[in-house]
Amino acid sequence: MCDNCFTTEILKFESQKQWTNFDLELTQKLGQEKLKQIRFNGRRVEGNEQFQYIYKCMTCGQEWELKEPHDHGDGYFLKLTTSRNLATRQLNNRQLALLVLILVIVFVIIRVMFG
Ligand SMILES: [Zn+2]
Repeated sequence: MCDNCFTTEILKFESQKQWTNFDLELTQKLGQEKLKQIRFNGRRVEGNEQFQYIYKCMTCGQEWELKEPHDHGDGYFLKLTTSRNLATRQLNNRQLALLVLILVIVFVIIRVMFG
């Protein structure tokens, strides 16, 4: 993070205006070659196109991940490390939910067999 890229992360674009302002700033920084796009991912999730862009700061080397807002209150702009941590956390939550489900099933089986 530095003045040539961005000093704050955006967890969520709260409004169209915020997104428009950000998009303008990003476009300027790309034009000035402060940031460079290094990757682009497009994928379809639940019928919606999702576009993710990875940018790299030419000064500090920070990599940023942008997800364009699809509708109001969607999308984010985060350091690549942050977005990976969030993805890992979501995975852990899913694993925890699965573990709870297994425990419930085991509990029900024990009740049926010994109840
Ligand atoms: Zn930077």
